[in-house]
Amino acid sequence: MGLKIYNSLSRQLEEFSPLKEGHVSMYSCGPTVYDYIHIGNARTALVTDIIRRYLTYKEYTVKLVQNLTDIDDKIIDRAHTLGLSAHELAHTNGLAYFEDTQRLGIQAADIHPKATEHIPEMIDLIQILLDKGAAYVVDGSVYYRVNAFSEYGKLSHRKPEDLLAGARVEVDERKEDPRDFDMWKAAKPGEPYWESPWGHGRPGWHIECSSMAMKHLGETIDIHAGGEDLLFPHHENEIAQSELATGVPFARYWVHVAFLKIDGKRMGKSEKNFILLREALDKYPAEVIRHFLVSAHYRHPLDYSIESLQTSESALRRLNNCLDTLKKFTTDIDESIDTQDDLTTDDNSLVSAIDTMQSGFIRAMDTDFNTAQAVGSIFTLVSTVNKSIAKNNGISNHIYTHAYNALIETCEVLGIYSTNEQDTGKTDEYLDPVLNLLLDIRQDARNRKDWDTSDMIRDRLKELNIEIQDTKEGSTWKFIS
Ligand code: AMP
Ligand code: ZN
Repeated sequence: MGLKIYNSLSRQLEEFSPLKEGHVSMYSCGPTVYDYIHIGNARTALVTDIIRRYLTYKEYTVKLVQNLTDIDDKIIDRAHTLGLSAHELAHTNGLAYFEDTQRLGIQAADIHPKATEHIPEMIDLIQILLDKGAAYVVDGSVYYRVNAFSEYGKLSHRKPEDLLAGARVEVDERKEDPRDFDMWKAAKPGEPYWESPWGHGRPGWHIECSSMAMKHLGETIDIHAGGEDLLFPHHENEIAQSELATGVPFARYWVHVAFLKIDGKRMGKSEKNFILLREALDKYPAEVIRHFLVSAHYRHPLDYSIESLQTSESALRRLNNCLDTLKKFTTDIDESIDTQDDLTTDDNSLVSAIDTMQSGFIRAMDTDFNTAQAVGSIFTLVSTVNKSIAKNNGISNHIYTHAYNALIETCEVLGIYSTNEQDTGKTDEYLDPVLNLLLDIRQDARNRKDWDTSDMIRDRLKELNIEIQDTKEGSTWKFIS
């Protein structure tokens, strides 16, 4: 079975087949840089990152473009409030966006085009649409004539009457049809502007993505991604502009990410119920936040809560503990499992658990990037390995090496394991002195033959998934699954 992607355009799970064999072009709508991003925005950015990582894992060459909307009403208003220029505000927040997403382990796109650096391309595209009779100029603004595109509504699956009902809410006398939208906005006094054949003004949001996507990826792109709120009107309008201009399909697979919610409501700036990504990253390692965000399939809403992050934190502790222990058994000798004919029953059952994990992981990710199930496969193997280590059943080192490599490879696709010692070691660094203190107290109790206190410490720690091991050299602790 190959990769299947749910395409919002057809509303079906479709076999993925890129336009050019072995290559994938992907465009993802990036942030409007008027403020820091919250973890809802991060969910959408992370899904793009994971799709790209998985396609790369499947040996596609991926070209990812993610824009920055660095001019729009929100940027102008906020800059005005803060006494900054729109450019200054967008520049600062653009840098903050890269800083935050990099901290979350999101790999930079191949190109991050800025709207303000593509004004000539936008003007050219608007001119093409004007020449085709698909646009009109009113008082220095240029509007797209929705009526000129017979397939308008094909992405959002809205009927013309639904579209009209929605568009009527904001009545604009200058439009021929309430559904028409601006591609070029005439400058209002005091606003930043660019020269154009229609006078001073600035581009509309939809034309930005159409022209930047086509400039960097060509007229037809393989995958276009964004949050579910962008499906209509943003993506519907991108299709209308691009397809009417070129006459060919604009994007072949449309991927929309469901909202991150908090207390059942969409996390959003306007709702004032957001948690900034940088605040979350100050409290939790990136891998914990990533684990939480991939714990649901991207088309399902996900609820934010401290408890969910704590669950992810303890899951990652188990994973790191397992990998750290496995690492001690790893060998550099490149022995193929197939050539080993002296495998024990325990060896064989671990080999088959590794195979099950790998095939489960691929099956899950091939089914529309089902990260929730993929994580499930990984953690099933983690439990098996932990049990096997605890049983101390003499598994060969090269099989533990195989388990280690398989886990690292799959975890890296999801970005839930970092080889950065500083990150992964944080918890132990913090817990070590506290637990050593407890072990000293317990040892003291044992010296006094106070077995009740000694057992109570051991049992209570066990409830917290921490196991004490008493050896001749003294007591040690470790996480258990
Ligand atoms: P904005 O800053 O509102 O333009 O959003 C930037 C990106 O984040 C867009 O792709 C949105 O669809 C997405 N987004 C905004 N809020 C959420 C949320 N609560 N959950 C998931 N994605 C979101
Ligand atoms: Zn866009």
